[in-house]
Amino acid sequence: MQVPSYVEYERASSVEHALALLSRPDHRVLAGGHSLIPMMKLRLAQPGVLVDINGLAELAQIRKDGGVLRIGALARHADLLDSAVAGELYPIVHDAERVVADPIVRLWGTVGGSLCQADPSEDLSAVFAAARATAVIRGQDGDREIPVREFHLGPYETVIGPGELLAEVRVPVHRGVGSAYEKVARRVGDWSVAAVGAVLRLGQDQAIEEAGLGLTAVGAEHFVAAEAEDFLRGRAPDEESFARAAAIAAVHCRPVADQRGPEDYKRHLVAELTIRALRRAAERAAARAGPPR
Ligand SMILES: Cc1cc2nc3c(=O)[nH]c(=O)nc-3n(C[C@H](O)[C@H](O)[C@H](O)COP(=O)(O)OP(=O)(O)OC[C@H]3O[C@@H](n4cnc5c(N)ncnc54)[C@H](O)[C@@H]3O)c2cc1C
Repeated sequence: MQVPSYVEYERASSVEHALALLSRPDHRVLAGGHSLIPMMKLRLAQPGVLVDINGLAELAQIRKDGGVLRIGALARHADLLDSAVAGELYPIVHDAERVVADPIVRLWGTVGGSLCQADPSEDLSAVFAAARATAVIRGQDGDREIPVREFHLGPYETVIGPGELLAEVRVPVHRGVGSAYEKVARRVGDWSVAAVGAVLRLGQDQAIEEAGLGLTAVGAEHFVAAEAEDFLRGRAPDEESFARAAAIAAVHCRPVADQRGPEDYKRHLVAELTIRALRRAAERAAARAGPPR
């Protein structure tokens, strides 16, 4: 099937207008359309009405606001890659955006669409889970905030309810944080075979105060390697800690064999990429030591 079924189209003129439209049954947000339109062509999605939010500039901002990096749901992948403040505070974001799809997809695909699509291979889901970001979900009754770690209920399913949209992602900014993302794909621009994001916060004594480990495409619950994070807390950021955390992450994830590789290969990648991401995150944390800017 290459042609979507009949669908109506509404262009939202404001967030309030979008929310009013979405309160009707069978309405669905259209952001970049890179995932939704192909699903409609395959008739895997058959919304009655598309609510186009592409004109809502207020949802596209990226800025630091006090102790929080705020990323609008309508920010494009390319905007995030261009954002100096995002790259400085969370280089993991730039690492990941450099390897999300290709320049054409990055020019139009959005942060919100990536999270809401809830594809298990979506790179930003692991990035924001590792960074312990918060999703701001807007409805006609106001906003509710949900940790990104609780945002995905499973493949292609999120906590966003009828009449709601994802407005923003908020990432906390702390002193002494370093982050990195490592991905292996079959070819340039492809989805991950496996990928790992690491966020390390070092304390005054240089021990690991908090660790975030996000896993992409390997069946990790909520995209997180929670057991490996628990192991790292309080330890020295050294090769021995990283190797042991990597082994824990590889054991606890649940990859499935598919055209991208067998299960044991994916576990091997998780272990190796965890070490590499942690190593780079630790180097960056050391370089950023000092008060937050
Ligand atoms: C060829 C190709 C390669 C790709 N490779 C990668 C890759 O390597 N890594 C990767 O991470 N991604 C990849 N992607 C996906 C890309 O990141 C898409 O941009 C993303 O999946 C969807 O974003 P979108 O803005 O196009 O969303 P859309 O397709 O418009 O929407 C996707 C879903 O999210 C919902 N939605 C969108 N925005 C909101 C919102 N604000 N609130 C509530 N619901 C919303 C829609 O209703 C729909 O259900 C690839 C896509 C393509 C086409």
